[in-house]
Amino acid sequence: MTALDRPRVIHTIAELREFVRAERAAGASVALVPTMGALHDGHVSLVERASSLGNTVVVSIFVNPLQFGVGEDLDRYPRTLDADVAALEGRGASVVFAPSVEEMYPHGPSLTRVTAGPVGSLFEGATRPGHFDGMLTVVAKLFNIVQPDVAVFGQKDAQQVHLVKQMVLDLNLPLRIEVAPTVREDDGLALSSRNRFLSGDEARVALVLSQALAAAAAQAGQGVDAARDAARAVFADEPGAVLDYFDIVSADSFEPVDDGGTGAATAIVAARVGATRLIDNRSLDLG
Ligand code: AMP
Repeated sequence: MTALDRPRVIHTIAELREFVRAERAAGASVALVPTMGALHDGHVSLVERASSLGNTVVVSIFVNPLQFGVGEDLDRYPRTLDADVAALEGRGASVVFAPSVEEMYPHGPSLTRVTAGPVGSLFEGATRPGHFDGMLTVVAKLFNIVQPDVAVFGQKDAQQVHLVKQMVLDLNLPLRIEVAPTVREDDGLALSSRNRFLSGDEARVALVLSQALAAAAAQAGQGVDAARDAARAVFADEPGAVLDYFDIVSADSFEPVDDGGTGAATAIVAARVGATRLIDNRSLDLG
């Protein structure tokens, strides 16, 4: 491993802009991978994807207070910058942009915000009011700071991807969005920064999310109701998890699909295991 493989860490917007300006002057295209840190192999897969597209890769690490509600896990969210930089060594990241809250919001929580529209108050947005407005606002700020040609997001956060794509279209933002598949443990558990809070028992209980999605996929040919019932039955057998929502949404609109609906859809699930809230999703082909 040489020092060249190690991403440079930048904390200020001015320095980041200067770095990007120099890269562009040298003919590079720029990719952004926005994250909240506590990096795992799922995040690293996004970085490798960005790098394989031939870009100078900026990985942002910022735990955005604007997207956490009162009583959520903002204070408890893991902050592990040194380990994150180490995890990115040799993976194609040029820079880690890790601004402070004061650097991003020098006048307090920004007064101007992006609003997510109707899909922003469904599912994650119903449980976490204001979450998607906060997420889109910081993503818009990051797009303006970095001005990337492409930004890479994970399918793991399917509603987030839908809303970011919608924002890019609605606001004519001049970049491409790439979506990378969800990276999982061998047992099916989707990697998440919050998995570190699960005890051994809870990690076993947490398999109910991917198992419910698999049950839904197996029944998808029989229609929406059959798929939904199959998933709910898996949860009924696992009292250790508290189901928040399970639904099947159109891949295009992210609106719930009625029974009788056909074509490409996404099964989405959120559940609490102990004190930890987990989400997951899976593509379905409805019969
Ligand atoms: P986070 O920092 O967890 O909010 O996520 C930053 C980015 O990583 C988002 O685009 C997520 O969708 C993506 N991501 C999180 N977990 C995974 C995973 N298991 N596989 C692939 N991408 C992921």
